[in-house]
Amino acid sequence: MSRNRETVLSGTIIQGDDFRPLEGYLCVRDGIIKEIGTGLVDSELQGIICPRFVNAHTHIGDSAFKDPPFLPLRELVGPGGLKHQLLAKSPRAVLVESMRRTLLDMIATGTCAFADFREGGPEGVEMLIEALEGLPLTARILGRPDDGSLDIHGSAWGLGISSTRDHELEAIRQMANGARCCSKAVAIHAGEAGTDDISEALSLDPDFLVHLSRASIEDLRRVAASGVPVVVCPRSNLVTGAGLPDVKEMINLGITVGVGTDNVMLNSPNMFCEMELVSKALLHDDRQVFKMCTLNGAKIMGIDEKAGSISEGKEARLMVIDKLSDNMWGSSDLLASVVRRARPSDILAIF
Ligand SMILES: [Zn+2]
Repeated sequence: MSRNRETVLSGTIIQGDDFRPLEGYLCVRDGIIKEIGTGLVDSELQGIICPRFVNAHTHIGDSAFKDPPFLPLRELVGPGGLKHQLLAKSPRAVLVESMRRTLLDMIATGTCAFADFREGGPEGVEMLIEALEGLPLTARILGRPDDGSLDIHGSAWGLGISSTRDHELEAIRQMANGARCCSKAVAIHAGEAGTDDISEALSLDPDFLVHLSRASIEDLRRVAASGVPVVVCPRSNLVTGAGLPDVKEMINLGITVGVGTDNVMLNSPNMFCEMELVSKALLHDDRQVFKMCTLNGAKIMGIDEKAGSISEGKEARLMVIDKLSDNMWGSSDLLASVVRRARPSDILAIF
């Protein structure tokens, strides 16, 4: 049923910060979840009502060069590597259009917010803002100064650094200090090509680390002790041969772990794919995996008061999954089926 600016949804709600399925209904007014209750009621849509994804690490700037040859990490995305050569010779309009297409794909595949490492200095940030115009996505853009400059664009949320392996640590420290001075976040890749950059990355006191696919248990203990969250990108790690992160140990140690799809040139920004891989290869805990792909990412991006889970007072960033689709029919555990097998074609509606 629908009243003025009010929508009522009913079905299996994956609700609260512990993602417990509830057979019930949910009222949305002016985009805010006003009420959640038990018992099914008449509604416009019936299905599995889920929070939308938060993709905590992307590089959508390379959307124009999908599926390059398999190359070692450094040759592919390192300084002067294939990605940067292609970016340098592509027309601006093509880059913006390709980013726009990726953003539309993110919306269609259930994502409501993302954190992007954007190359190209202030102009790179500007291009992403242009691509985002009018789209219902929350973006946290982590820019990167051009060589020699400390200026990362005023609209950038923070500084996104490739790795301490790629630049002089002192230069990175200056950049990070510069970002802190203007209240910007600092994030950095670490433990992807090796483990030697993990301590250096931690010494920058970052807001979050990305990858740690090669981190040892000792490394993870230090990360846990520092309280720094981690974003894992296992599909990317498979393509680049960077190993797979020990997510089970990360969770055991109490690290806040988010999930990202990393470079669009390597992987689609489809979070269903990333979630399925995490659930099957890295952590047999459906509830925790879904939380990593939603609420934990929202925490890392500082938007968990309004997004990332279904609770009264939060924004209704929801998707309804069809439990009767050919893919989902016969599920004995709806939460498990959403995490392990649902795909974009099972989405009935996105709010
Ligand atoms: Zn990355």
